[in-house]
Amino acid sequence: MTQADAPPPEETDAARARPELLTAVGETLGRSLDPTETVQSIADLLVPAFSDWCVVDLLQPDRGLETVASAHRDRGLVPEIARLRESYPPMARREQVHAIYRAIDGGTTVVEVIADDDLERRAVDAEHLALLRRLGIGSHIVVALEGRGHVIGALSIIRAPERPAFEPDEVALAEEIARRTAVATDNALLHRAAQQSLELRDRFIALASHELRNPLGVVRGHWELLGRRIGRVSDALTDEDRQRIDASMTRLGQGIDQLQRLVEELLDVRRIASRSLELRRSEIDLAAAVRQAADEIPDASAAARLRLDLPAEPVLGWWDRGRIEQLVANLLANALKYSPGDAPVEVTLEADGSLARLRVSDAGIGIGADELEAIFDPFTRGTVAESEHYPGLGLGLALSREIVTTHGGRMWAESEGEGRGSTFTVELERGSAPAADEG
Ligand code: ADP
Repeated sequence: MTQADAPPPEETDAARARPELLTAVGETLGRSLDPTETVQSIADLLVPAFSDWCVVDLLQPDRGLETVASAHRDRGLVPEIARLRESYPPMARREQVHAIYRAIDGGTTVVEVIADDDLERRAVDAEHLALLRRLGIGSHIVVALEGRGHVIGALSIIRAPERPAFEPDEVALAEEIARRTAVATDNALLHRAAQQSLELRDRFIALASHELRNPLGVVRGHWELLGRRIGRVSDALTDEDRQRIDASMTRLGQGIDQLQRLVEELLDVRRIASRSLELRRSEIDLAAAVRQAADEIPDASAAARLRLDLPAEPVLGWWDRGRIEQLVANLLANALKYSPGDAPVEVTLEADGSLARLRVSDAGIGIGADELEAIFDPFTRGTVAESEHYPGLGLGLALSREIVTTHGGRMWAESEGEGRGSTFTVELERGSAPAADEG
């Protein structure tokens, strides 16, 4: 039930409306993981069906309150609630402990009928009193919000003087609503904390990978220099020494390439997170890119397992060459990595009207149905890949999908299940030459 179709309170058959209110609260709570949104929608449900105004406050580490939601029957008065909290914070009350803190500290519910002279006694000054009168307080229920064993805030539900005070069964209803709200809010807060630590991780990765780039550049530079120097003195070496040095240089080069790819992938995480992958489109031949990726597989025996089924004519499209090469290399490397030693990996490419469709199928470890989507999330790996210690960070597919969607295409995985192979399909619009002012 939304506020719009809630019957006005005068006509409400209270007993009938209560289960409906509880159902509506339940439905609302499931909808958002944003703590502020969650509690605001509860506040909106309670006003005016159940009360004239209400406020949800979360307890801060310094015992102050953060008002995360408020609603008033007269929408124009909502800013006045904020002013009340700001100018007359409940924590500062000297004379009498504010109902919110009585509820929070006692972990209980405070129910009070409040007459105008009570307001006069409680008000700090004339303006405070005028503000309280304007908002309208005749009775209120203040319930502590408890999440995972500790109080996280309070829900204050207030009725104007002209409305009947809360009945005991309405207090019970308010407590039930508060209980549900607290659980949902606590979950949402946990989610927010998790998001913040993810952001921290991403920032750290971006920073670390950036810092790694320079020393890696130095290592590559000296590796190339060393190669040239060895070339100049190679006549003076024995065949055996020359072969050993060549083997070491090749291995070193592969290691540097691997490190560089990793660092670039980590840097790309940042781009995925900020959706700022930039494309430099030009006309390229996807069939040639697939052939090249196959040629560049460092391990010759792995490369020999690839079965390429490519059209004889070029499959042209307007794509970012570097990113497309990265995408194809990722798909081929995964299919080889996640399938046993001698099983073939089928790579098919077809032009289908305005689309180019690339499919990579292996007979490897497969993917559980419940993981087919999740493996495209950054740092997410399949359970078999993890438990059988296949190396990897879980970034390749996230990047690959980002590359594909930034190009306006789609990418998905299919598998009959664990141990039954996998197929990854990429569909890319071939597009047309961009307007002159585009890259
Ligand atoms: P990584 O291989 O570094 O873990 P990816 O993002 O490339 O990262 O892949 C994410 C996960 O998807 C892998 O950990 C694995 O569980 C699963 N996966 C990817 N490709 C395949 C494949 N061809 N067969 C089975 N599982 C795969």
